[in-house]
Amino acid sequence: MKFGTKAIHAGVEPDPSTGAIMTPIYQTTTFVQAAPGDHKGYEYARSKNPTREALQKSFAALENGKHGLAFASGMAAIDAVIKLLNPGDEVISTNDLYGGSYRIFTKIFEKYGIKFHFVNMTDLDEVKATVNANTKLIWAETPTNPMMRVMDLDGLSEIAKASNILFAVDNTFATPYLQNPLDHGADIVMHSVTKYLAGHSDVIMGALMLNDDELHQQLAFIQNSSGAVPGPQDAFLVLRGIKTLHLRMERHSENGRKIAEYLKSHPKVESVYWPGFEGTEQYEIARKQMKDFGGMLSFILKKDSQDAAFEVLKKLHYFSLAESLGGVESLAGHPASMTHASIPKEERLKSGLKDSLIRLSVGVEDVEDLIGDLEQAIV
Ligand SMILES: *Cc1c(COP(=O)(O)O)cnc(C)c1O
Repeated sequence: MKFGTKAIHAGVEPDPSTGAIMTPIYQTTTFVQAAPGDHKGYEYARSKNPTREALQKSFAALENGKHGLAFASGMAAIDAVIKLLNPGDEVISTNDLYGGSYRIFTKIFEKYGIKFHFVNMTDLDEVKATVNANTKLIWAETPTNPMMRVMDLDGLSEIAKASNILFAVDNTFATPYLQNPLDHGADIVMHSVTKYLAGHSDVIMGALMLNDDELHQQLAFIQNSSGAVPGPQDAFLVLRGIKTLHLRMERHSENGRKIAEYLKSHPKVESVYWPGFEGTEQYEIARKQMKDFGGMLSFILKKDSQDAAFEVLKKLHYFSLAESLGGVESLAGHPASMTHASIPKEERLKSGLKDSLIRLSVGVEDVEDLIGDLEQAIV
């Protein structure tokens, strides 16, 4: 089955009791048993709910995986993966990591004796040099937020396999339409479903996709035991959102490309961060593992100050100033004072995150209007 067909059909079947083509919202906590243990596969909705189950099958299909698991948020999905580890275990991750992931790693899990290394993951030698006998997990994110750096999934997976290390990829920015890390040797794919998969800025949710049966059992055990599951209403909304994922991603990518090129030629713009510019090593890696380059990009102004960035953000009209990304509507953000404010300034600057950096989540509006908006704002 090809991607668009999977987006529409995978996991969902007409409801067996009525023939309803849309999976019903099973808004129930429990399921009646004929005799103790004699039930129709469902007992209590934290463990299993039919609406969530349909969604989990869809998740698995989108990432070419065997199993999908839904969580109450992207963070809850990350939380479940780290709970696979034991005190003394070590994790290698990137120094250009989603702020919330950095926070849960350092502020929650270090307390339990798990050690995190944040390296330049575009440098495979640095990753290799950080591996030791305690390394149990490599946690990658590509493209990264907000610098849009690309990591070599094949290269990382080779390092992980050589030392029997789990390899997990936060695939939120790329989406399963553009990139499928399981096909490049990853053991676990994680999504903040909140973003492109749901796609309409109305649901908080997370997902894990994977192939291995035993690993799936362990993660499903954590999902049920820790209990961070999404409700059936949200599962329904995401099932609905996924049906247009391929159409939205085509438009996000097309608009993203035009805006990246527009900004690159803008006299007031110093640099544009977008993995689709030809002639770089990053582009070659992106081209190898991504179908297109998506709608996320960042840029810095020639006049590099927070005030200059704030002036632009104030003038933007169709790009709403807000955290988050991946919805149909365009958003603009200022990572240094918003999503990445919790990272110390020296650390931010090390990864190139300057004070004038503006991140765009390019929506699916008509691109002429979006470019017109940027034109009147960057003066
Ligand atoms: C938003 C986001 C998360 C966290 O997901 P939530 O759904 O907000 O909990 C994790 N990783 C990336 C890359 C994100 O953009």
